[in-house]
Amino acid sequence: MARVLVILLSAALAAAPPLPGQQPRRRTPPRPRRSPAALLAARIPTPRSVLGFEPGEDRKLADWPLLVRYYQALASASDRMRYRELGRSTLGAPVIALVISSPQNLQRLDRYRELNARLADPRAFKTSKEAEDVLRDAKTVVLITSGIHSNEVGGHLTPALLAYRLASDTSFTTRAILDNVILWLVPSLNPDGVTIVTRWYNRTLGTAAEGTDPPELYHHYVGHDNNRDWYAFTQVETQIVVDSIHNVWHPQIVHDIHQQDSDGSRLFLPPYLDPIEPNVDPLLVDGVNALGTAMAWTLAGQGKTGIAINAVYDAWTPARAYQHYHGGVRILSEAASANLASPIDLPFDQLATRGRGFNPRERSWNFTAPWAGGHWTLRDIVTYQTDGAYALLDHAARYRDHWLRNFLTVEERAARGWKGWPYAYVLPRQHQDSVGLATLLGILHRGQVEIRTALHPIALGGQRFAAGSYVVVLRQPYAGFAKTLLEPQHYPDLRLYPGGPPLPPYDVTAHTLPLLMGVTAVPARDSLRIGLSGPVEPPTAAVGRPALAGADAPRVGLYRSYAAPIDEGWTRWVFDTWKVSYLPVVDSVARAGKLKDAFDVIVLPDQSPHELLDGLPAQYPAPYAGGLGADGVKALRQFVGDGGTLVALNEASRFATEQLLLPVRNVLEGVADDEFYAPGAIFRLELDPTDPVARGMPAQSIAWYENGPAFDVLDSSAVRVVGRYPADADKVLLSGWVLHPERVAGRAALLVVKVGKGRVVLFGFRPQYRGQSIATYPLLFNSLQVTAP
Ligand SMILES: [Zn+2]
Repeated sequence: MARVLVILLSAALAAAPPLPGQQPRRRTPPRPRRSPAALLAARIPTPRSVLGFEPGEDRKLADWPLLVRYYQALASASDRMRYRELGRSTLGAPVIALVISSPQNLQRLDRYRELNARLADPRAFKTSKEAEDVLRDAKTVVLITSGIHSNEVGGHLTPALLAYRLASDTSFTTRAILDNVILWLVPSLNPDGVTIVTRWYNRTLGTAAEGTDPPELYHHYVGHDNNRDWYAFTQVETQIVVDSIHNVWHPQIVHDIHQQDSDGSRLFLPPYLDPIEPNVDPLLVDGVNALGTAMAWTLAGQGKTGIAINAVYDAWTPARAYQHYHGGVRILSEAASANLASPIDLPFDQLATRGRGFNPRERSWNFTAPWAGGHWTLRDIVTYQTDGAYALLDHAARYRDHWLRNFLTVEERAARGWKGWPYAYVLPRQHQDSVGLATLLGILHRGQVEIRTALHPIALGGQRFAAGSYVVVLRQPYAGFAKTLLEPQHYPDLRLYPGGPPLPPYDVTAHTLPLLMGVTAVPARDSLRIGLSGPVEPPTAAVGRPALAGADAPRVGLYRSYAAPIDEGWTRWVFDTWKVSYLPVVDSVARAGKLKDAFDVIVLPDQSPHELLDGLPAQYPAPYAGGLGADGVKALRQFVGDGGTLVALNEASRFATEQLLLPVRNVLEGVADDEFYAPGAIFRLELDPTDPVARGMPAQSIAWYENGPAFDVLDSSAVRVVGRYPADADKVLLSGWVLHPERVAGRAALLVVKVGKGRVVLFGFRPQYRGQSIATYPLLFNSLQVTAP
């Protein structure tokens, strides 16, 4: 507002007659009269004025520092937005947000934050009149996030277009949005990746590698899995955004902007497919359905085609959906991709014949207007995304009262408690994995779950727990978050057709943290009838593995493929967090041989045998094309023969078995999905605690099973079985989904195979799954120390 006055004032001065005593000035010709809208537009910097191109132009991307300059320029020119730095990314880039609303709302931001916080925890309302007063005054809070997946490059640019539109547009709709909505716009949830992908794209422009993914993870540690971190909070970007926006502003709507494959729909919007995770309040599912459908309707009205709803994406895992457990909806949009910023041509008859839940070549109730095929560009992507986000904001503004009232209802129901839910979970303080307990309670605490302690001993189901045990009562606003993460999952048996093969879930099927973290958490059906403390802070525990750091530590090499499997990043993250010393082993190092001179142990993270062997295709420049190849295999064989330890994780175990001709057989090789299926589940694991690999572990533990092998031993004189699945097939599954567990019952899941002077440790599961399976970290760490015969 102040700047408008300055501009108007200086215009007035320029036209004023000379004061007495002043030299008469030459009259300036009258300026053409400009409308307020034109005046506003003139002082708001366009994206082009800072980026040097119009977002959506073919083959044009901007790195993060340039985008940040644009958001700073925009916020300093507009009284409709403010710029905030929320923190620093993994590689030190600023993680930023714009808060966007009317100038009047922005002046009273603290007041609106307080109003929303009161709705988020209705326990403090004394009368319904108080709640009604807040509902009348509060604004819909919307969080739009983008760019979490850095090769979905429309998401780098769409926030700039959206912010510019909201800063410069004077239409009735935009003014209604600004008046009724407080928008938090996070232009990138992964700033490091914006720069990684942009630099790789520019470097390869005009070469055979144009449009390819970079030969490194676009999030330093977790690549694409950064969008599966929204309950475990392992990465700083997740922590920063949850702590500074979700938990402070309690948005009613979270919208995350993504891209999908090229050959399906042009845009996916919710409703999601079944299954919906059962602890999500039904009213939120209704909200997701209403909002996604309304957005699709608006975009169709603009003539956009190829929009699918109720397709591809389900809503089972909480890993992407923090807000579903915090009173708000979480909407995903997925635009079809081009080749990064390079356009593609996709004839209609090359569209996928079947998507999940729809056919891109056929009209159906949830895909009402198929796209005709043809040219598809970055401009198309950013247009669908920007118009989609704008349609969402329009809905948030028009239905402000619905969004706020339903938000309040969801929180009231949670605070009252749902019929059939346990009263509480009890987590004893003693006889627990201290890191697991601290991590689990830390997660609940970050998710704003209140944790209390028992003031007296608790008798529960024949067990007695000491006073001081932690208690999570499931009658509080975010009870659903706690319950979802504390209980075992029972994934429904979904098939492609009755009696047919399994219908794959979009992500994994289990997320039971007590199992993953080696923590006892006991549900109490009824009130505990004892005194509880007020909310307490979670305990802390130091992580580290002294024997794996320093001069006497084994020399560990971690194979780092240019195909950039996410599990390599997770392994690196676990090693860095637990202070395990290691060096990366890239293809040129592996192929050069003499590995025993440099390493005692080499770890192969979870990666398919084909990708380990062949790596990236020949269109990539040196040194990125090709994988370990025949020379790398020979060198690994030599390394083990010379006395080295090769540790192979999950699918890499199949590679090691095949390439080193180990005397074991994968009983799941070539087995079809309808004969055995477990798409990410928690299995029971029986260990031999006398084996060095299982040192310090209980005899009963867990395994994160996900597409891994399971073994029969062919030569028991060369093989030690460290861990097996239970012989009783009914006991295999602890959480999630498995079909035909008898296929793996009694089979070996973790073994050590003697080869020459060395050995290979084969994991049939992921011992460091997404930084969550703390229960089985010791198996991985121990295997690094098995350097004696
Ligand atoms: Zn994505």
